[in-house]
Amino acid sequence: MKRTKTKTEITVATRQRITIRRRSQPDAWCERCGATVGMLLPEHAAVLSNTTPREIYRRVENGEVHFVETRKGDLFICCRTITSIKPAEAVRLTIPRG
Ligand SMILES: [Zn+2]
Repeated sequence: MKRTKTKTEITVATRQRITIRRRSQPDAWCERCGATVGMLLPEHAAVLSNTTPREIYRRVENGEVHFVETRKGDLFICCRTITSIKPAEAVRLTIPRG
């Protein structure tokens, strides 16, 4: 007698709302966008792109994301790049303006 295996695949989609305070998201000129855009701390960029700060730093090193570095050495990630990292269907962005 032939046995049949049944495989059940379950996909779970999650949704989360993230609010990033304007103070931690300054506008700055992004050379690669050629525009003034919102900038994010690497930690926030990681949350928004559903990855880790380490991964964000890796992408910065590889030139895969736009970023600016302040004279003090603070790193900010271009918002536009973050949305292109991963089409974060499951992550809804809420970035208050003003
Ligand atoms: Zn940019």
